[in-house]
Amino acid sequence: GSPCINSRTREKILVTVRVRPLSDRELQQQDVVAWDCVDDRTIVQKLPSVNVAERSPHHQPKSYTFDHVFGPESVTQQVYEEGARDVALSALSGINATIFAYGQTSSGKTFTMRGVTENAVCDIYSYIEKHSERDFIIKISALEIYNEVVRDLLNSNNSHGPLRLLDDPEKGTIVERLAEDLVTDIGHLRKMLSVIEAQRQVGETMLNETSSRSHQIIRLTVESFPRDAPSGGLVKSLVATLNLVDLAGSERASQTHSEGARLKEGCHINRSLLTLTTIIRKLSGQGRAKSGHLPYRDSKLTRILQNSLGGNARTAIICTMSPAQTHLEQSRNTLFFATQAK
Ligand code: ADP
Ligand code: MG
Repeated sequence: GSPCINSRTREKILVTVRVRPLSDRELQQQDVVAWDCVDDRTIVQKLPSVNVAERSPHHQPKSYTFDHVFGPESVTQQVYEEGARDVALSALSGINATIFAYGQTSSGKTFTMRGVTENAVCDIYSYIEKHSERDFIIKISALEIYNEVVRDLLNSNNSHGPLRLLDDPEKGTIVERLAEDLVTDIGHLRKMLSVIEAQRQVGETMLNETSSRSHQIIRLTVESFPRDAPSGGLVKSLVATLNLVDLAGSERASQTHSEGARLKEGCHINRSLLTLTTIIRKLSGQGRAKSGHLPYRDSKLTRILQNSLGGNARTAIICTMSPAQTHLEQSRNTLFFATQAK
């Protein structure tokens, strides 16, 4: 049957907002900060600087509340610890997990996901060290989705053309020919991450602006077995995937306001991003969005993530935004999405 929402098994999505500092360029252009992170859960839009006494009562600043809000002075380690750690570590106990960075181009998605990945890798290895009663096997793969075409980011040999998605009766959607490397230790894992980073940059040079249009996924598969299993007895192995996802710029989903908007071919809208936001809205089930069918099969991104999104899987979304007045409209869109994901 088609995947439907089951509210009893669904995990709440962890939603974090991170505002980066004004960039040098924004400072040069004398842009100003348009947002106040008033506490660690709340962000409000600053009012135009009129005399407080002259403010009318309906000029109440709009305030948005999330699981966590981080201002420009925050460091990625904090963002990781509060906004992603629990979700990342759940993969070690057999629960599929996905961590997304969502936001407009240049809002800090890649900056944040790099740091989150680095922190997650350290955390995973210190967990493994502390749990010597189990043996862990970690595998890594990485891919990029550009224009609904999937490219391997670990294996530089993409000369056989784009990777196809296949339906496996047991594993669900699998990516044909996607390279998967067995990780020997944390040093090896870091080396793999730099190979992936280099592959990403190859892509960016081949196609202008690809990072704003493409989704990048780093997948860690974690399997573990009890070390001293009684011989002949049932060995209980745990296996789960952790997906670290750097999404295309959210300006590519700016149609998401209109519920059920049809995709127009050839326009700037990104099919994978639009389908993802639709599914997340439905999973969070607010208002009109609360209906049963989840259109996982409508895009490459959501097909690949299907088993790690919704159901019993754990999800964290880190929404990144510029503090600048000139980006007000896009930042509002980001907060609107973040509100729907709660
Ligand atoms: P995106 O991936 O969303 O397009 P980037 O992560 O590339 O954006 O960030 C754009 C620029 O802003 C980069 O130069 C990056 O180093 C810088 N930046 C982003 N977030 C922060 C932050 N929290 N603190 C300092 N610099 C940041
Ligand atoms: Mg980026």
